[in-house]
Amino acid sequence: MSVPSQPSFDLVLAGGTVLDPASGLNERCDVAISGAQVAAIGPDLAARGSEVIDCAGSTVVPGLVEGHSHIFQYVSKVGAPAEEAHLRRGVVAVADAGTAGASTFPAFRKLVVEGNDLRIVNFLNVSVLGLIDFRFGELMNPDTLVVDDALATAAQNPDVVRGFKIRLSEDVVGPNWEALLKKSIALAEQAKLPLMVHIGETEEPLPAVLDYLRAGDIVAHCYTGKPHGILDGDRVLPEVNAARERGVLFDSAHGKSNLSFEVARRAIADGFLPDVLSSDTSARNWRGPVFDLVTSIAKLVALGAPLTECIRRATVAPAALLGLDGEGYGRLEAGGRADVTVLTETSEVELPDAAGNTIVAPRLEPTTVVHNGAVVETVPWRGGATA
Ligand SMILES: [Zn+2]
Repeated sequence: MSVPSQPSFDLVLAGGTVLDPASGLNERCDVAISGAQVAAIGPDLAARGSEVIDCAGSTVVPGLVEGHSHIFQYVSKVGAPAEEAHLRRGVVAVADAGTAGASTFPAFRKLVVEGNDLRIVNFLNVSVLGLIDFRFGELMNPDTLVVDDALATAAQNPDVVRGFKIRLSEDVVGPNWEALLKKSIALAEQAKLPLMVHIGETEEPLPAVLDYLRAGDIVAHCYTGKPHGILDGDRVLPEVNAARERGVLFDSAHGKSNLSFEVARRAIADGFLPDVLSSDTSARNWRGPVFDLVTSIAKLVALGAPLTECIRRATVAPAALLGLDGEGYGRLEAGGRADVTVLTETSEVELPDAAGNTIVAPRLEPTTVVHNGAVVETVPWRGGATA
């Protein structure tokens, strides 16, 4: 009798700890890939792989989803290159957070969304200008918030526009924060989309801003060390917890100037994790202090956040928020997208926050990245010598 030959897989990621917060899977097993799909997840698949990558000692997670970035390269001074900053560091889907406004969106769509090999969506800046040059606040002229233009761009581009963004710092909105926030909320309400609000140097304390936000709206930079943040001493403000209870979401959005280790440490100790763990990568920070999303994850892990919860907030949680879960992003399952990132802890290095304070902790390196079933050529960490 002949033994039927077993089907083989194109690629098997073997022997890592497979961590998929969407399904609750967290165990040592193999991930087999054929074509652009995950073919199987389970034990003892390696013998059937045409190609096998040894992942022993590493954590195998869904291709990461970056909830907050700035990738409008060539048009905005803050635009980082999407593939080099994200895909080649383990991120397969990314939301640009307000770099493009209605008047610059056609260029964003053509150059960035259609010009890169990863899934890109955005929060459209409520100013038609978008964030072209950080030296000149895009809402200093409040007339640049043109409701009809924002609504039309969102309606014509539902595959990309997943919400709106307002930067509420004083150097962006001048004295008009309240009127502009109200108008932005009304706009978001009309489009039935969330509003992301950037804090850090707002004119009023955070509770005055939170009063306006609806369930599903997002506060970016929840661990900012700038005035009017989420803390009162060691404790998270009761108004912040109340906002969370009614569905307001919080995004860590590290950025050049909005992650304070001290704020994050206290908030995490008080049980406050971000709903979305993002890097806020831009051309101003991708060579430090941010570097990339995996380094942002490693920082919060070092400050006491559980790895599983961090990975959840950089996979299934932003995928759901951005409406990318229906396209299979943010999870690992047989029959699902073959987007997989293998994370390996390095030896300890010095990691900086936005104020230049440092911690010594292992970082995470995306040692293997698979996108649409193909192994991606990664780029090295952009930080200093890795001891
Ligand atoms: Zn940002």
